[in-house]
Amino acid sequence: MTEDLKNMTCEEFQAQMPEMIGSGENASAHPHVQSCELCRALLADLETIAEAARQMFPVVDPPDHLWQQIESAIQEEDSTPDRR
Ligand SMILES: [Zn+2]
Repeated sequence: MTEDLKNMTCEEFQAQMPEMIGSGENASAHPHVQSCELCRALLADLETIAEAARQMFPVVDPPDHLWQQIESAIQEEDSTPDRR
């Protein structure tokens, strides 16, 4: 499967890049980045931006009570009991 990853197009890789960074995955370890200078540069840019964003918004995952507030707000809007 490593070959497939290495042979993916820049377009395919770049489509996955924000997701990889967002999930905290080490995108720079990706085989495509290892073999593609263009995406390596792009990744470096994106990681700089992501890092700056993390410093501005240190809480990446909203705390549980926030989700509960959102959920109860949704449930108030739509009071169908057996929904999920
Ligand atoms: Zn590339």
